Order: sequence, then structure tokens, then C-alpha cells
Amino acid sequence: MNDLQIKIRDRIKAATRVLVTSHIRPDGDAIGSSLALGLALQDAGKQVQVVLSDGLPGSFRHLPGSEKVKTKADGEFDLIISVDCSDLKRVGKALDGYRPPDIVIDHHSTNEAFGELNLIDPQAAATASVLARYMHNWDLSITAPIAANLLTGLVTDTLGFRTSNTTPEVLRQAADLIELGADMTRLYYLSLVRRTFPATKYWGAGLSNLKRADGIVWTELTIADRKASGYTGNDDADLISVISSIDDADVAIIFTEQNKSKTKVSWRGLKPNVDVAQIACQFGGGGHKAAAGAEFSGSLAEAKEHVLETTLKALQLPI
Ligand code: 5GP
Ligand code: MN
Repeated sequence: MNDLQIKIRDRIKAATRVLVTSHIRPDGDAIGSSLALGLALQDAGKQVQVVLSDGLPGSFRHLPGSEKVKTKADGEFDLIISVDCSDLKRVGKALDGYRPPDIVIDHHSTNEAFGELNLIDPQAAATASVLARYMHNWDLSITAPIAANLLTGLVTDTLGFRTSNTTPEVLRQAADLIELGADMTRLYYLSLVRRTFPATKYWGAGLSNLKRADGIVWTELTIADRKASGYTGNDDADLISVISSIDDADVAIIFTEQNKSKTKVSWRGLKPNVDVAQIACQFGGGGHKAAAGAEFSGSLAEAKEHVLETTLKALQLPI
């Protein structure tokens, strides 16, 4: 075990009250990793609060321990751990009134190492993969409920084992988690396949607006589209995964209107020579080489103008 692993183990051993948090708009890896670590720490005799600033989306309520998720921390903690989150801003309000994390565990290449101890593996396919690799070093065991959460992180961040970082290690971890009691068929269906009717109608609005120019495909989703379809989230309902399958594009982008002065932007790099994290960073966001996002300060029209121009410029530069 290296020095960092020993330090993390010792901090965990010494702690009695632990806060586990992750990023705003939590996805399957954020939720699966938080719940897996939260449950394991609880099994190790700690008092644990799992705090996600935006709470838990309904589509992940099937996960063991999901009823524990709170939107605000309460009391004092001798250990604060952030998982799957690249910077302090992305924690949202979860740590309002608290210090920055003592331990940061993540796999985003744009991670700002904002903890006291930082375990960041940008090669890892998911934060859940980092946890599955190291939890035994910290004397935390993986029970069936914990395995279900970790497998959800692996399945969702690899888009069902399709991304280029789906290594033999990831597949072995998945196999081990199945042996430990995780039901992959069910978890895969619930986190990646199942859609609500309003979400599918909302996709229709985005798909009917699809545009293409200079290797970029993009579309927009407005507040009016959400009202018309009955979709209650404020995200793209993962429409980005659909437009990312367009065969001759280099980059896919979705602009999701939040209000008059805020627009969520999601990028997907569709070719190995494209790094969308670098583009997202220019707008204060971040992510991975092939998948990144940012909160653009400006209207939908302004976001489209600036982001398309910057993305086009980035595509013209050799990397
Ligand atoms: P999505 O576009 O699906 O929201 O996110 C794609 C990837 O980019 C995820 O890894 C996500 O964590 C990251 N990401 C999305 N939005 C932001 C943002 O505003 N800031 C940072 N740092 N990362 C983001
Ligand atoms: Mn992740």
C-alpha cells in the first residue's frame, strides 16, 4: 500500500462521524459511489450522512441506501469525503458551513485536487471503479447492497461497458460485484434503459431541432419543451447519448435552458482526437476528454453563439 492509501485508511479508522458528498445533478456514478461508501462506512460502525445538494433523482430510488440521501448536512463531522466531484463549486450547497473535504476520491481529469488527501485516477472508468479497487485497503467490505451501488456506477459511467476506458479490470470488477450479489440485468435496465413517457416526448422536441455543421451536431432543450412534454427535471434527460451515436460527427452538444441567464451545456467528443474537457474548461466547466459539461452564464442564444464558435475553433486546432 502506498503512503496515500495508508493515510486514507488511517483517517477512516479514526473517524466516527462521516459526511459523504458528491456533485450537483448527480448521475449514476455520483450516487452509486456515495451510497456504496456511505453504507460501507456505516457497516464499519461510523455515523454517516450522505448529502447531495440536488437530492436523489427518482430514477435511482431503487438503490440500497438511497433513502439515506439528504440535501443538507446536520451536525459536526470528523471526516468529510467527496466522491466523483471535480471541484468545490460542483458540490453545490452540500458543504455550506463546512470545511472543504478531507478526502477527495475521483476520476475526472479536470479534478482540482480540492481535498486534503486526493485520490484521483483519470484513467479509471468510474469513481465506483476506484472504490472497488481500493476499499479493501481501507478495511471496508463490499456487501451485496454495496456491490449494487458500485455496479451502478460502473454501468452508467461506461454507458453499459461501451466507453474506451472499459478495461479488463472494469469487467473483472463487474464480475466480482455480480458474485457479491449485484443483479446486473436489473440494475442495467433501471439505470440505462428504462425511460419515462415525458422524458421520451422531451427527446422528441430536442431531436426535431437537431442541427449539423462543420463536424458538430447540436440541439437545444427549452423550458417550454419541458412544460409541453411534462418532463420534471431540468437536464437533457440523457438525450446527449442519443445524438452521440450520429456516425459522421466529431462533437455532439446539447444546450439546456435553465433560465434567462443560465444555460447548461453538455459536450461529447465522438472521435479519439477530440478533447471536450478542454473546451468545457473555457466556460468554467470540466469533465472527461470524451464527456464534459458547463453552466454557461447567459441565455440560450448567447450560449449557442459562444459555445459553437469556441468548439469549432478547438476542432480546428491540432491536439
Ligand atoms: P453531463 O454533460 O452529462 O452533465 O456531464 C458530462 C461530464 O462532465 C460528467 O463527468 C460531469 O461530471 C462533467 N460536468 C458536467 N457539467 C460540469 C460542470 O459544470 N463543471 C464540471 N467541472 N464538470 C461538469
Ligand atoms: Mn463518474
